Amino acid sequence: MFRADLHCHSVCSDGSDTPLQLLELAKKSGLSGLSITDHDTIEAYSPELMESAREIGIRLLPGVELSTEFGKNTIHILGYGFDLQSSHMNYFLEEMQQRRNIRNREILKKLKEKNIIVTEIELAALVTFGMKKTIGRPHIAQIMLKKGYVKSIQETFLSYLSEDSPCYVPGFKFTPLDAIQVIHDAKGKAILAHPHYIQKGVLNSLLALPFDGIECYYSNLLEYQERPWVKIAKDKNWIATGGSDYHGQFKPQINLGCSWVDETTFNQLSQSNKI
Ligand code: AMP
Ligand code: ZN
Ligand code: FE
Ligand code: FE
Repeated sequence: MFRADLHCHSVCSDGSDTPLQLLELAKKSGLSGLSITDHDTIEAYSPELMESAREIGIRLLPGVELSTEFGKNTIHILGYGFDLQSSHMNYFLEEMQQRRNIRNREILKKLKEKNIIVTEIELAALVTFGMKKTIGRPHIAQIMLKKGYVKSIQETFLSYLSEDSPCYVPGFKFTPLDAIQVIHDAKGKAILAHPHYIQKGVLNSLLALPFDGIECYYSNLLEYQERPWVKIAKDKNWIATGGSDYHGQFKPQINLGCSWVDETTFNQLSQSNKI
């Protein structure tokens, strides 16, 4: 049976597996299709990886998970089947990385005021296997834990990095509509990610945006938890997508392929609309 996991992270954002390891794990897990959806980067999609996917026998769908800001809320938007060469998309991602660098620097400054020393060099040194990666709060938290400033990642967020904590820096992200537009411009499909994480009031406003689909099947959700999202997809004639949100050893309780879509859905998201 054809199964495709449409949501996972590699070392190019905050996962622990390389893109090639993800392909190999997908094969071992009996999947037929995969989309690697790193946060704000498509660095994983090298020509070599596309070639490896063909050799291994996995259909690889271009994907990305864009971080956006809606009021005070961070909203994740998945893009699928877009043109990897799109200059709009590549410019958008480049701009996002620059804004992140500036923001990371501001976070480090605020931490320093609390006598917590994390340097830009330590952050940059997290690069794995020579691949560029999106660096954000999870990586800062990782270094704080390693240097013994906190006892857990959770404590780092609670005491320093979460939205209501003293070292949070907002305001660097694009809006959900910006993200949808850049995905559409690149001939891709824009999907609202893990809607169950979103507050109800905010959700209603988001559902009015021109999405092509909504992530209904997610990670370890139970069938009854997925049902309301499937209903919204049906009512709106949106594509019902799904995936594990696998992060490797950083979220060991989640297995690749624990959520997935069928071949029809996979084909709907593939680049059939490329000119
Ligand atoms: P950023 O994109 O740099 O703002 O970081 C967002 C990421 O931080 C999210 O995708 C989560 O992986 C992680 N994160 C946010 N809040 C928490 C939390 N309370 N505990 C652990 N990780 C968190
Ligand atoms: Zn992630
Ligand atoms: Fe997400
Ligand atoms: Fe994710």
